[in-house]
Amino acid sequence: MSVLSELQKASLSPTPDFHPENHPMDDFLRMDRMPHIWCSTCGIGVSVNCFAKALEKCQIPLDQVVVVSGIGCTGRVAGYVKVDSFHTTHGRAIPFATGMKLANPKLKVIVFSGDGDIIAIGGNHFINAARRNIDITVICVNNFNYAMTGGQLASTTPEGSVLSTSPFGSYEFPFNLPFLAESVGAVYVARWTSLHVYNQTVSMVEALKKPGFSFIEVIAPCPTIFERQQKMGDGLDRLRWYCENSDIRNGASTKDVDIRLRDRMVVGKFVDVERPTYLEAMNAHYRERLGSKYKDYEG
Ligand code: SF4
Repeated sequence: MSVLSELQKASLSPTPDFHPENHPMDDFLRMDRMPHIWCSTCGIGVSVNCFAKALEKCQIPLDQVVVVSGIGCTGRVAGYVKVDSFHTTHGRAIPFATGMKLANPKLKVIVFSGDGDIIAIGGNHFINAARRNIDITVICVNNFNYAMTGGQLASTTPEGSVLSTSPFGSYEFPFNLPFLAESVGAVYVARWTSLHVYNQTVSMVEALKKPGFSFIEVIAPCPTIFERQQKMGDGLDRLRWYCENSDIRNGASTKDVDIRLRDRMVVGKFVDVERPTYLEAMNAHYRERLGSKYKDYEG
């Protein structure tokens, strides 16, 4: 047997002392659904781990937590978390989450999905939920392409990127997600990479505790498609690149945090402001208009 096939066999076999029932993530993950579909060194699993840690730190009862995802590699998160979760149609995670939050405001509702799903196909829902300050947390794993469907150009793809629908490099101007989120009304906006696990977790804790529309962008490697197409190496090479090329600038103006393909990248917590949530605004409005005839809506 060749060395390669030995290695392949070893990588496919569970280690002898691996017992899924004793896994540290057991309370949070549906271990019966393992192994997951994500490629080796993909950044999505890192964010799921940070999210689990954030939930643990917040001490939110898991039966009050709902995770909603759309379609795509990150959209599979909903299938692996051991809380009430919904894998919705493409781009519709935010309206689904909005309905759930309005129907039962006591729930902690989190949208966990990818850039193609949340920002491109679901872009209109994103801007309107932020504008209304719907009390949900949106975690957007941005790997700069539609990975699951074969690596097409997305609205977040940096200029010059080679993808299946931009074989000579993209010439489109991409969204700057923190700037977009802030300009349409998000009250909490942060960006981290898959390398920044501590910061990611802290931001998730803050976002989960923050009333209103909170948004976290996670820049994550997609070694199978994006990094390979740009000849950037594998996921570990990309983490090294993040380490050497990320500048933490908390409070930076979101106008200045555009991402360019091979330039240094700004990460940090950019926005943390107060604004009435949709339900707070609605209740205040009707109290003022209708006086004692109005009873606050609480679900
Ligand atoms: Fe991750 Fe890319 Fe693989 Fe999807 S295709 S699981 S985003 S590495």
